[in-house]
This record gives sequence, structure tokens and C-alpha cells, in this order.
Amino acid sequence: MQDTVAAIVQRYIEDRPGYRLVPARFGKPGQQSDVWVECPTFCSDNHVKDWNQHPVDLDHWGPLDAGWDTDSIHQPGDRLLALDARLHSDPGATDPRLSAAHVLMDDESVQVYLTPEMAEKTADELIAFAAQIRHLARQAREFNEQASRPRRSQADEALRRARASKWQSLSRDDIESLPIVRLLKAFGVTVVENGGSSVELAGEPGDMQLRVGHDVRQQQRDSEARRLLAEYAAGASRD
Ligand SMILES: [Zn+2]
Repeated sequence: MQDTVAAIVQRYIEDRPGYRLVPARFGKPGQQSDVWVECPTFCSDNHVKDWNQHPVDLDHWGPLDAGWDTDSIHQPGDRLLALDARLHSDPGATDPRLSAAHVLMDDESVQVYLTPEMAEKTADELIAFAAQIRHLARQAREFNEQASRPRRSQADEALRRARASKWQSLSRDDIESLPIVRLLKAFGVTVVENGGSSVELAGEPGDMQLRVGHDVRQQQRDSEARRLLAEYAAGASRD
């Protein structure tokens, strides 16, 4: 028996490249018997353990090692959307494209059967789809970043722009001679006191801050503010 089976296997390997003989179990429970069937080399099924009632029901399945799934914000860790792909053939099918090796894709509710050409087209489309998902992710991130910035009303913005341009009508002489209060107003400067002992200027005209240390005397404040504004104006007009 062993020799006979080995001889048959040997003959089949020679006759049909890509196939081997494997045992398969058929019949109703209690009336089952094992026979030798041709099985493509890609098939990872055990046809004895996964038996069929009728030989025509026998399918060949490749290993399930291509798949993708994702969870969701609401249900982290759960496989909620899934796609698998594996090799398949159905020797009992009348359509030769189904009896030949093809790609079977499964979303856990629908199965689609793809010829190698159809599978290649699908792969190209999925690559394009992946790029679209990446684009959506970027759009979502950019929107969220924009939306998390502090709100500035249109009126605030118009006022800021009006203030921002005021200083540009001032000459160098104006900056040196105008009362400091008018100068601060023209540049749109808010004075903020802090614990330091220096005077610093930050921001852009219309929305500037003069940070003044507690220890700085009034006269020094004014002269430092004037000097910093003149410096800013000179720098800005160079740009
Ligand atoms: Zn098989």
C-alpha cells in the first residue's frame, strides 16, 4: 500500500506541476471515508480535519496571512473594520477562473473572487485609497491645530491692522520727539510690569508688549521704550 501510494504521488507530481496528493475526508458523520485528492501546493487546509460532505464542495485555501483591520475611538482594541486576502481555488466550479488559483478577499460579510489581473487592479486602487486617507489625516490635524488657536474676532483683527499701520506714518524725528504716551499708542503697545529689572519689547505693531521690570525708574522706562521702538522702526524699514 505504502509503495502504491508513493508511486501514485510521484506520478502526480510529475504529471501535474503545482499539485500534490493529500488525504481528504468525505461523507456524513458516521459514514465518512478518506480518499486521495489533488491539492495545490499553496493550499494550507487539512482536508481530513475540515471534511466535506460531497467531493464537489472541496475548496483549496491559502494561508490567511494578508489582512488589515482597525478599531475605533469608541471601541479601542476591537476589530471593527477588516479585510483579508488569501489564495483560493474551487476545483468543482464551472467557471475556469474559479477553478484556477485566484485571490479571495473577505470583509467578514462579503467575499469577492478576483482573477490575478483584478487583484492587481484592486491593489493599485488600495494604494491610491491609502494616499487619500493620509491626506484626510493631514487635513484633520491642520484643522484641529487651527481651531485650537485663540479666537480673534473680525473686529479685533481690523482694529489690530489699523493700529499696526499707524506707526508707519511716523518719521524718525517723530519717534525721537513725540510724547512717549502717543508713541506707545501709535505702535499699539501694552505695558506689562514684571519682576525683572530690564525693559523688553515683544510682538508686532498693533499687538506689542513692553515688559518693564518693577525696579526700572520711570525716566529710564520712557527712554528705553523710545529707544526700542526706534530700533524696531529702523529694522522694519530696512526689511
Ligand atoms: Zn487543498
